[in-house]
Amino acid sequence: MRLKNVPGCRERIADSEYVVPEESLQDLAGKWKEGFADPGELHIEIGMGKGRFIHEMALLHPDINYIGIEKYSAVLLRAVEKMEADPKDNLKFIRMDAEIIDTVFASGEVDRIYLNFSDPWPKDRHAKRRLPSREFLARYDKILKSDGCVEFKTDNRVLFDWAVEQLEDSGWKADVITYDLHADENLMKGNVMTEYEEKFSGMGNPICKYVISRV
Ligand code: SAM
Repeated sequence: MRLKNVPGCRERIADSEYVVPEESLQDLAGKWKEGFADPGELHIEIGMGKGRFIHEMALLHPDINYIGIEKYSAVLLRAVEKMEADPKDNLKFIRMDAEIIDTVFASGEVDRIYLNFSDPWPKDRHAKRRLPSREFLARYDKILKSDGCVEFKTDNRVLFDWAVEQLEDSGWKADVITYDLHADENLMKGNVMTEYEEKFSGMGNPICKYVISRV
């Protein structure tokens, strides 16, 4: 998701009390839980877009601490505006490219990672940028606690099949795989829709989901 440049958005992000200053990200590695009012589990969403999913998760699970990560300021600004209208103590944002995620969180610091409707990067030469790629799985392996999991949802079947192939001999296994999440009553329990999920499921597209953990 790339919104047109919003004048002043970088400044508004820099001034926001809900966005962690970029210059302090690496200093916070290993200390993220201390920055929240309650020292609960730490769940992160990478590529959160406008932040609907993580904002609702923070509302539904006040005992869990959430961090939403988004690359583009103009998109992140939408999530910040949601927080200004309805603040949550257990939610913070980071503006960064997730390629450096293993420098921002310490080993085993994160309890769960959400990837929702990640960009497909259809060209082969860009495959390493896909958030469920082996390259990103290796980064998640560094920051996720040993029994932590990664949850990935998408309506893009080509990307999903590729993501499942990435698991082979990777040190990860699928605990859950579905090719039609919304048709599965059990898996839908507690499901929070993202902006893209609402749009694409509304068009009739089946939603694929996996939950993976280490072998
Ligand atoms: N998760 C939201 C949803 O399901 O509605 C947004 C999905 S949108 C297709 C993907 C988002 O991921 C975009 O906002 C994009 O900027 C962000 N993104 C893609 N690659 C990223 C990266 N390497 N680091 C941080 N954000 C990234």
